[in-house]
Amino acid sequence: MSEERTTMSGFEPTPTPETAPFWDATSRGELAVQFCTACARYYFYPRPQCPNCGSVHVEWRATTGRARLVSYVINYRPLPPFDPRTPLIVALVELAEGPRMMTNIVGVAPDPDHLPLDLELSVTFVAQGAVQLPVFEPAAAAA
Ligand SMILES: [Zn+2]
Repeated sequence: MSEERTTMSGFEPTPTPETAPFWDATSRGELAVQFCTACARYYFYPRPQCPNCGSVHVEWRATTGRARLVSYVINYRPLPPFDPRTPLIVALVELAEGPRMMTNIVGVAPDPDHLPLDLELSVTFVAQGAVQLPVFEPAAAAA
């Protein structure tokens, strides 16, 4: 078994030409998604054409970083590089600007009693390899 496999490295996202603006924004502490100037809608994941109307007139815009909890699972046995002793909340959130994204919820006990649907969330960032990964925490905790 190679050293690379035993250390489980290489799990961090690798920026590509289409996703580099997203990772550049997270490195500045901003959550940015693409905005279509033709139909005035935000979308995610990164694509060169608007998924709503097909326009190529799109640009990157910083979001408010506000979101609400749409759905989640609690993984009680996450694989490395995550700590297998610490439950991981894997969530689908909806940004205030509209797009939904998969992420993790931090800053709250991994307990359904603390994770009501529609919970108001605020983005925060954790280092993962060379990138800053956007995750969310309860908005009250971020205040
Ligand atoms: Zn559009």
